[in-house]
Amino acid sequence: MLIEFTSSGIFCRTAGVYIDPSKPVSKAIITHSHSDHAKRGSSSYMTCKKNIQILRHRIGNSIDVTGIDYGDAVSINGVKISFHPAGHIPGSSQVRLEYKGEVCVVSGDYKLEYDGLTEEYEPVKCNTFVTESTFALPVFKWDPQNEIAESIKKWWSRNKSKGNVCVIGAYSLGKAQRLLKLLHSDEERVLVHSSIQQINHVLRLAGYDIPEVKTYEQSMNRNELEGAMIIVPPASLSADSFSKLEPYENAFASGWMAVRGSRRWQSFDAGFGMSDHADWKDLNEAVLMTGAEKVFVTHGFTEVFARWLKEKNIDAEIAGEKSLQVRTDSDS
Ligand SMILES: [Zn+2]
Ligand SMILES: [Zn+2]
Repeated sequence: MLIEFTSSGIFCRTAGVYIDPSKPVSKAIITHSHSDHAKRGSSSYMTCKKNIQILRHRIGNSIDVTGIDYGDAVSINGVKISFHPAGHIPGSSQVRLEYKGEVCVVSGDYKLEYDGLTEEYEPVKCNTFVTESTFALPVFKWDPQNEIAESIKKWWSRNKSKGNVCVIGAYSLGKAQRLLKLLHSDEERVLVHSSIQQINHVLRLAGYDIPEVKTYEQSMNRNELEGAMIIVPPASLSADSFSKLEPYENAFASGWMAVRGSRRWQSFDAGFGMSDHADWKDLNEAVLMTGAEKVFVTHGFTEVFARWLKEKNIDAEIAGEKSLQVRTDSDS
């Protein structure tokens, strides 16, 4: 076995590297910069070149980090290691390990639909595939991105006609910029929370084309915000006081919003089921495209997905350690 599941995360013993370790290790390989994958404290890091500045912004400028271009390979103790686009958020990768003819791919988080910002998902053939399962239930089925964007714009224009400001929650790395690109135009006023603006800046330095928009300031007066759409991180939706924006409506853009009536949905005026993860159909498609004879399921509805794959005669199992099975939705 090229990889094993330990209490510190996915470990390749031959190369002596951990992938997205949950604890500090000597050599960490990072798939992408969301907080459940990129942890501080490791002695050295390796990641895709496009992710370097994002990773530094997230976990510290002083980290020892090596960047590898998509598709290029490095060899450690005879293990050939390369990075391939995961389509999840800017700079996200699947990690491919090859040793003596055996290939293992650790996908991190991924989505198949091209979002206009993130490098497009690349199917990678392998013997062993480690897949996430954040939305691995048949009920999760995403609408195409352009249809979701149209629904958001309708909600926005309805609110404009009522004199309401719109506040929409979106994860600050990835989803927020995706929304910004979809909603921004010369005629429309989009503003972003300061934490999102910081990431916009980092992404521009990394070469991504992110529209220049104003930062939302609490000191802004209501007139300045007439007809505006303000993109904020999810925590701000409940924590920040938008009372001076009255009248306003809020919404949340997340895969969880695709299931109406969920408790999460009800606390917002509107919900849009836009996710940076694969839905049920695309998880299945991704697994098939790898041609893998062995699949490990992590992060999410592990039991459901592993059982389903087994019924399809794919040798699937839940990834070993409990630590990998913790359901996180910090970046959905
Ligand atoms: Zn993620
Ligand atoms: Zn994740």
